[in-house]
Amino acid sequence: MSELPGAVDRLAEKVRDFVIRDCIPEEAAWRASGEEVSEELRRALMARARDAGVYGLHLPKAFGGAGLDHRGKAKVLEAAGYSMLGPLALHCAAPDEGNQHLLDVVAEGSHREDYLRPLCEGERSCFLMTEPGGAGADPAGMKTLAVRDGGDYVINGRKWFITGALGARFAIIMARDASAGGAPTLFLTPMTTPGINVIRPMEVMAHDSTGGHCLVDLVDVRVPASAVLGEPGQGFRYAQVRLAPARLTHCMRWLGAAQRSHDVARSHAAHRHLFGDLLGHHQGVSFQLADNEMDLYAARAVTAQACAVLDAGSQGRHESSMAKVFVSEAASRVVDRSVQILGGLGVTGMTPVEHIYRSIRAFRIYDGPSEAHRMAIGRRSLPKGDDLLPDLTDF
Ligand SMILES: Cc1cc2nc3c(=O)[nH]c(=O)nc-3n(C[C@H](O)[C@H](O)[C@H](O)COP(=O)(O)OP(=O)(O)OC[C@H]3O[C@@H](n4cnc5c(N)ncnc54)[C@H](O)[C@@H]3O)c2cc1C
Repeated sequence: MSELPGAVDRLAEKVRDFVIRDCIPEEAAWRASGEEVSEELRRALMARARDAGVYGLHLPKAFGGAGLDHRGKAKVLEAAGYSMLGPLALHCAAPDEGNQHLLDVVAEGSHREDYLRPLCEGERSCFLMTEPGGAGADPAGMKTLAVRDGGDYVINGRKWFITGALGARFAIIMARDASAGGAPTLFLTPMTTPGINVIRPMEVMAHDSTGGHCLVDLVDVRVPASAVLGEPGQGFRYAQVRLAPARLTHCMRWLGAAQRSHDVARSHAAHRHLFGDLLGHHQGVSFQLADNEMDLYAARAVTAQACAVLDAGSQGRHESSMAKVFVSEAASRVVDRSVQILGGLGVTGMTPVEHIYRSIRAFRIYDGPSEAHRMAIGRRSLPKGDDLLPDLTDF
């Protein structure tokens, strides 16, 4: 670990204290509004996080962070995720956290000052990859096209599900690059660039971000060649730089939310009496609590193991895929059981569990649906080349 053992635990404890004191009390009013988290609330929470000394702990040291490795981030981001407002307060929510990491690894020169610095200081960004009828689980289906025109590129296409697009300061646009043989290039550009039209936020099961999940049209968006992030034609490679750690940070935050659901459910089970006994003493409930404990334990271990692989310098595509599938499904089971244990209360807004239940559903779809990850994991598991085994069924 980049921090002394124990130091990360103390940071995580500090974040947990902050989340309980400053974020949880804000939840009820926000949830009751049925709206996105407003920019006003997000900024107020970030200010309180700064005062408490927990803002941006996950950021690179040069930009005010604690210089945590992935295992360190796992503890801090799980603590932040204990409230759905926590990641916004610490500015470690998607998509900004993934974009901060991508820019820290790939951006050079003025891109670091013009884009990465404001992003680390609290501005918002968005990442435009997914398209209606185009790039999705299979990004190779990308239709958005960038064409060279003199010293510029002109980009045309339609993107959707773009988290945070409303009010974002800048966009990272992925487009097929005609001058790179159709391979995708990433472009960094202000959201004020003419032709970037945020059509509308899409209706989703749960509002849990700032700036919506939006439909965005790109109409003759003209950007200079200097807008290219890194090298032209390397979009898929850079997307992997972003996606493997971003899958794990999703796991971390959702572990916090699943733990919260479990805590609400087990507190209920320890107080509610029915059929002559404490709810938690009935075996049917006790077994559900046990399954929650085991799912949380295993999900934490899988996340930590995948983090250790990334910390050792590997890209960790295989491990982050396995963690993403396992944790998204295990955490969803935990939240679902928590609703069941709470009874009717579980489907009301009187506890946070109902909102978490709706919100966590998308985790099994975004950043690659479980099926796409299973396909990749299964393909990699087939022995081939130097690893080809003798046919062990050939007796
Ligand atoms: C809340 C939310 C926020 C998002 N934020 C962003 C964002 O900020 N930026 C961005 O670019 N995108 C974002 N996305 C998009 C997200 O990454 C895509 O929804 C996801 O990659 C799946 O793509 P798709 O929706 O086009 O589904 P499709 O690619 O059409 O897949 C549909 C379904 O097909 C099945 N499937 C896919 N592949 C296989 C396979 N190999 N075998 C069997 N079945 C398969 C899966 O069940 C999958 O759910 C977001 C999505 C959501 C829901």
